Amino acid sequence: MPELPPFEHTPIDDIASTCARVRTTFLSHKTRPLEFRIQQLRKLYWAFKDNEALVTEACKRDLGKPTFETYLTEYSWVMNDCIWMANNLPRFAKDEKPADIAFTNKFVGPRIRKDPLGTALIIGAYNFPIQLTVGPLIGAIAAGCTAIVKPSESSPHAAAILQKIISEALDPSCYTVIQGAIPETTALLDQKWDTIFYTGSENVARIIAKKAAETLTPLVLELGGRNPAIITKHADPKLAARRLLWAKTLNAGQVCVSQNCTFIDREILPAFIQEMKNTLKEFYPQGPRNSPDYGRIVNQRQFQRLKKMLDSSNGKIVIGGTMDESDLFIEPTVVQVNDISDSLVSDESFGPLLPILPVDNLDEAIKLANETHDTPLGTYAFGNKKEMEQILNQTRSGGASLNDGFFHASIPTLAFGGVGTSGQGAYRGKASFDVFTHRRSVTTTPAWLESLLDVRYPPYTLKKQKKFAGMNEMKPNFDREGRPLGWGNWLLGLLGLKGLAALIVAIGVRQYLQRRSKL
Ligand code: NAD
Repeated sequence: MPELPPFEHTPIDDIASTCARVRTTFLSHKTRPLEFRIQQLRKLYWAFKDNEALVTEACKRDLGKPTFETYLTEYSWVMNDCIWMANNLPRFAKDEKPADIAFTNKFVGPRIRKDPLGTALIIGAYNFPIQLTVGPLIGAIAAGCTAIVKPSESSPHAAAILQKIISEALDPSCYTVIQGAIPETTALLDQKWDTIFYTGSENVARIIAKKAAETLTPLVLELGGRNPAIITKHADPKLAARRLLWAKTLNAGQVCVSQNCTFIDREILPAFIQEMKNTLKEFYPQGPRNSPDYGRIVNQRQFQRLKKMLDSSNGKIVIGGTMDESDLFIEPTVVQVNDISDSLVSDESFGPLLPILPVDNLDEAIKLANETHDTPLGTYAFGNKKEMEQILNQTRSGGASLNDGFFHASIPTLAFGGVGTSGQGAYRGKASFDVFTHRRSVTTTPAWLESLLDVRYPPYTLKKQKKFAGMNEMKPNFDREGRPLGWGNWLLGLLGLKGLAALIVAIGVRQYLQRRSKL
């Protein structure tokens, strides 16, 4: 068994000086050259490659995470990200030529530079301890920021291996890990940051947002859950059962994008429950408890929280229900609930509890889903094409997967983020670069343009205003009722009566000359 480094809290007294060091490095411009950033990303790749076994062991100890899941969702994910970002960075970092610039403004060469925001604080959650911290870190490195990473103390083994990897692979004056819980995070939040990237629960997000507001620090919030799945009577019950069960048993349901409650048409309910039972047997032939492919709850506090949630439910357990605190095991548990005030629906379960709520029709399902949480992180729709479009049209969420549970969130290059109380800002793929980047608009005014620009200087005159209006003023293509104008009226508005007459004469003369030349 590989030996893991110990998890040690960073002394609080060291935090201010570490942050100051990382900030000073940013101000020294060390992270600006693209070659430096690309080299750091490549080194990070190799550090993960060399530590795959340790990452696997750490995730196993923290979450009982199956080897396959650690490969899929942790180290292979971030290693691919390192390669992808390094390959695409020159393209992302290039100045952009903005569209929609008026002809007269083109002479000043407007462009958008991609400047790093500065020094970033990245705070992670426990459930994907590597991906949720290294994903944003890759964006920060790519953008040219310096960064401090604060992994979750609830996954201490993964936090420790992360610290080992980052300190061995990356320039320590630019990127470093601070370990700890609330006191250390509070000390971090007392420092000056140019951006904070937080992944975690809504409650803690409020604390972080208040702190960020004091210094007007930009903030990305990747929050959670209470995601609805909706199954109509036209859905395939077997497909829905397989896909939703996987989405809720991966990482033992400790996934922010898993469905929290499934609203299902009564007509299809018995078939769906039967298919859930079949699928469970197929996924875990010896039962989930004896399977190496089923994880554990992260700690006793979370175990007790989930147990209380289940104990307080008024629903009927239709599958599962067993748990063992000594092993932090909770069986995938399907509970038929009666209403959305049930303890399993009103809060985010963030575990392998699957409430299902029967409904009479799709309208009722949508209404209840919106009442439960009108801006969840994900929405999952199963039904025919028209029904799935209706679900999209009548709900809001950070992302959505049609005919699946959170597939959209498993595409590493697709922007990922919440909306409303499930978060703000997005990352992954190019969005990871963008979220740590300031788009700085730049113009360069040539000296020779002065004769044209003269118009802006005092003393202001009516003549200057008219000249300016001639260069600048737009003509409406709509009337006073907001109705679009026909092209004749629009031209009249644009050119005026005289201009329009001149245009008609010019066209007439042109046609006359063309006809004569053919004769
Ligand atoms: P959490 O909010 O308890 O902890 C997240 C981080 O905040 C940790 O690093 C922790 O040390 C720190 N923290 C905790 N209390 C704090 C305080 N009082 N002051 C300052 N910092 C504090 O979240 P968690 O339990 O690790 O993760 C579960 C939550 O995260 C769920 O709600 C889940 O939906 C959400 N989540 C969201 C995403 C996403 O990408 N949107 C991903 C994973 C998890």
